[in-house]
This record gives sequence, structure tokens and C-alpha cells, in this order.
Amino acid sequence: MKHTRTFFLVGLSYLLAALSALVLSDAANDALTIWAPSGIVLAASIMRPRGEYGQILASVAIASLISNLCFGFSLFESIGYTGANLLEAVTGMIMVRSCNISGLSFDDPARVARFGGVALAASTVSTLGAALLTANWSGAFTASWFVTVLLGQLVFVPVFVTALRRGIKSVGVGEHHTGRQVAVILAINLLVSVLTFFQDGLPLLFIPVLPILLATYFLGPVGAAMGVACTASIGSIATLNGFGPAVLVRELGWLTPTQFFQIYLVFLLTAALPLATALASRNASYRETSRQKRYFEMASQTAQIGHWRLELEPPELSWSDEVFRIHGLPVGRVPSLKDALEAYHPEDRIPVERDITECISNGGQFAFDARIITAHGELRYVNSRGQAEYDDNGELVALFGVFQDVTDRVLIAKQLAAAKESADNRAERAQILAGTDQLTGVPNRRGILARLNREIELAAQNGSTLTVAMLDVDHFKSINDKFGHATGDDVLKRLARICVDVLRETDGFGRLGGEEFLIVLPGATAEAARRINERLAQAIRETTASTINLPTATVSIGIAAYEPGMTADTLCAVADGALYKAKREGRDLVMVA
Ligand code: GH3
Ligand code: MG
Ligand code: MG
Repeated sequence: MKHTRTFFLVGLSYLLAALSALVLSDAANDALTIWAPSGIVLAASIMRPRGEYGQILASVAIASLISNLCFGFSLFESIGYTGANLLEAVTGMIMVRSCNISGLSFDDPARVARFGGVALAASTVSTLGAALLTANWSGAFTASWFVTVLLGQLVFVPVFVTALRRGIKSVGVGEHHTGRQVAVILAINLLVSVLTFFQDGLPLLFIPVLPILLATYFLGPVGAAMGVACTASIGSIATLNGFGPAVLVRELGWLTPTQFFQIYLVFLLTAALPLATALASRNASYRETSRQKRYFEMASQTAQIGHWRLELEPPELSWSDEVFRIHGLPVGRVPSLKDALEAYHPEDRIPVERDITECISNGGQFAFDARIITAHGELRYVNSRGQAEYDDNGELVALFGVFQDVTDRVLIAKQLAAAKESADNRAERAQILAGTDQLTGVPNRRGILARLNREIELAAQNGSTLTVAMLDVDHFKSINDKFGHATGDDVLKRLARICVDVLRETDGFGRLGGEEFLIVLPGATAEAARRINERLAQAIRETTASTINLPTATVSIGIAAYEPGMTADTLCAVADGALYKAKREGRDLVMVA
């Protein structure tokens, strides 16, 4: 059933429109004014899918033949006219597809212009077909056929397409019009048309222009089409029945009232339709701009980027909504430049002012990071960057900048910096610990050997003297055995403290392991080293002897002087040899290698 809906709808409305047009012109005994069936066929070709074109053509063939025969045309004439109507329909269909105006929108001037072209082409083919098929080439016949068909398409297609496509409620340029608005405008048009055409005392043909403009303004292209359709229908009835302002031209003799009325309609249409389309396209671009602005605002809000603009003459600041939000203010009146600067942290105000002033005097770009204090007293970090804005004459007229709350980013960066510092400190401590002996707190083997290597390098470079001393506690095993391991530890700790106290800060001292220590004496000759170490051995002996709870401890020391070409190992081995000698010769001795 769905497939035949188009067939019956187009067929019946075609038949109805054709019969009423024919009856009207016959009653008036005059030529037709507008051939509405052409509008129905072209509108159907635009709105229906290509697959239904067969049904449309079949319904046109049958409705056209019936109306012509009913009306008393001969079979020859009826077939001729029907053939012309079919040729017109086929031309319309081909053109609709090739010009791509199916689903016609009257918001786009280019598409409306193409629609005008399609109507012209279909009307031309229709006229040629009618003249050829009925062998009637008279100027009056062809001109009348052409104009009636063209007007039928131009006047009715926009009304049918838009009204049927969107439903009467949303007829118009895209704004939503209520049915009542449409009805009121239509009623005004009808009323004015009736008042204009149902009198023939005055040539008031300019009057209907006003309600058509009204309809155009409020309803756009479909309003224009509806207004013209209204004037066309009422005017046709009046003119065909021999009254109305158009009959006044009868006195001229060379123009019939119907022809005059058709010319009048063509002018009305060519004035109203382009105007309506221009209005509609302006509305469409306004809507597009509003939509773009809305997207821009949404994007700014999502990215939390605001923007501000400072007009220079007279000074006026404008803020986007996001700038208000960042300041913790309700969107509303923009503060003065002075008040806006007040929001900055006192320490940042002057640099910000300087950046802005510099951009005002030198142009170019600016960028600053600063802190603001929001309306709630909160401290926020902001970043702003922008540039000078110039008018067409190259005159600097404003500054434009984006404005972003970077508090989270700044806080994370601060946390990272703090974490890095504490990690650095920990690493440094770990490194010190790695070179320190836990028991005595003096450098361990690694620490003192590193020091020795540095000193050897310096001595090799500068040719300066360098001496080392290897120190070992005498009979330490028996101290441990007699007094316990803890006391042994106390002896080692005490010994280390004595050495640190006696030696100079520039000397090196460290524990090589067990009860063995290394002393590095930069700049000391072997003789000086011997004196120092004897003092050291004496201090150890005397201090331990005079300390309660500590056994008396003595040490043996072997001294070696650095000679070019020696390494830490060879130098230590020489000192170790001297130490061994001191042990052998009775201990509590300082021996120089
Ligand atoms: P010598 O006079 O020949 O040096 O005899 P010594 O007993 O001191 O020499 P030896 O090398 O035989 O013994 C060293 C002892 O030091 C052995 C070890 O138990 C002890 N010792 C090593 N490290 C520590 C320590 O950290 N604390 C304590 N209490 N004793 C340690
Ligand atoms: Mg030892
Ligand atoms: Mg020992």
C-alpha cells in the first residue's frame, strides 16, 4: 500500500488542481494564469526518491488525460497536452537529480538559483512539447503555456516542499514558528489580497507587496512563496472573472489582464524569493556563528583557558567567562584595569604591569606567570600570554591575551622539586656513609684510600712531599680476650678520637680494618712524620692508661714517604714493611721505612 501512496496522492491533487484551474479559466472564458499541477509534479520529484518516479509519471499521465477529456478537449488535444506534461515531468526529474536539489532547502541561495534553472528548463521543454504535439505554434498559445507552467512551479514548489517536509509548525527559515504565527501571517496576506483584487476602482497592485515582505521577513523563503501564492490565487480568481486592478489594462488593447497579471506575479516572485533566500542565508550564518562561539566557549571551559582583551582608547577591559571563574568571581561586570591588577599578588603586580605597559608601547607579544588572589582569598598561579592587536591602519588598538590557571601544574612542579632535593640529600648522606666507618665515625678503608689516591695525584703533579703511616694496635687480640670484645671496641673508638684530635684537619686518617689505621700526611717529610707519630703513640698510650675502664693500649707505626711513580698499594706496602719491623723489634715503636 505504501508504494501506491505517492501514486494516489500526486494523481488526486493533480486532478483536483487541474480541474479547478480549467474550470476557473473556462468560466472566465480567458487563458489560464497559473498551472498549479506543474508545481505539484516538480515538488513530488524533489521530495520523493527516484524509485517512485514511475508512479509519479503514471499518475500524471492518468490525471492529465482524465482532466483534459472531462473538460471537453478532443482526444488528440488531450493526448498532446498529456504528452507535454509528461515531457515536462521527465525533464524536471532529470534536472532535479543532475542539479542535486532533492530534499530542497530554501536557506541556500545557490540551490534556490538552481531550482529556478530547473523550473525554466522544465517549462521550456513543456512548451515545446505542447506546441509540437498539438501542432499549435501560435505566439499566444506558447507564451501562455510557458508562463502558466513556470509560475505554477515557482509559486507552489517552495510552499509544498517546505510545508510538507517539516510540517506546518516548523515552516520557515529554521527558527521554530508556531502554527498560530503562520496562520496570522497567511490571514493578513489573504485579507490584503482580497481587498486589493476585489475592487477595480484603484490600481492598488503595490499593496500586496507589504504583507509578502512581512511573510518573507518572519517566515523566510516559504513565507515569500506563501505570500505570492496567496496573491496569485486570489488575483487569478479576480482577474479571470473580469474584475480587480489588472482589468484596468484592458484599455491598452495590446495586453490582456491575465498577461499583465502574470508579469506582475513574475516580478513579485523575483523580488521576494531572492530577498527571502538572502535573509535565510544570513540567519543560517548567524546561527553558525553562534554555534561556533558556543563551541569556542565550551572548548575554553574544558581546557580551562580564558581570554581577555584590553581596548586602549578608551581603556576598557573585557574578560571571558573562564577569566571570571579563575578569579572566583561570578560572571558579570568586568572590573577596571586598575582593579584587575589589584587581584595580583603584591610581589607580582609590578612585573605584570611592566609586561603590559611594555607591550602597549612596543607592540609584539607578552607572556607572564604570576599569582593572583581570588575573591575567596585563595592563592592561584596563572599564566597569560598574548599579543598586541592592530587595526587596518596598523595602529595598535588593543591587547589580547589568553589566561590560564596553572596552579595544579605549579604545585606538582614544586612537589617534584622538593622530592628531588630530599632524594639528593639522601643520596649524599648515603655516599658519605659508604665512605665512613660505623664504629669509629672516621673514614673507612674506601674513604681513606680515596683520599690517599687524591693526595698521590697532587704530589705527582706538584712534586710536593707526602708521607703515610700505618698504625696497628699491639696485642689487640689479648685485649679482646682479657677485657671482652666491647672493651676492644671502646679502645678502637678512643684511639680514633685521639688521632683526630692530635692530627691537623688537612691530614687524612681512616680505619683500614680491624685494629689497623692509615694516616696520610700531605706536605710532611719522613722526619716530620716520625715526630708526629711519636706524639700520637704517646698520646694513645697515656690517654688509655689514665682512663678508667680502659686497658692501656700501645701502637706500632710504620712510616713511608712518597716517591714519584709509587701507587697507593706500593706506598702502603712500604709502610706495612716498616710496621712489621716495628712489631718485630718489640712493639710500641715508630719505624720509618
Ligand atoms: P699484634 O701485636 O701482632 O698486632 O697482635 P694482635 O693481637 O693485635 O694481632 P692480630 O692480628 O693477631 O689480632 C687482631 C685482633 O683484632 C683479632 C680480632 O679479633 C681483633 N679485631 C678485629 N676487628 C675488631 C673490632 O672491630 N673490634 C674488636 N673488639 N676486635 C677486633
Ligand atoms: Mg693487626
Ligand atoms: Mg695488632
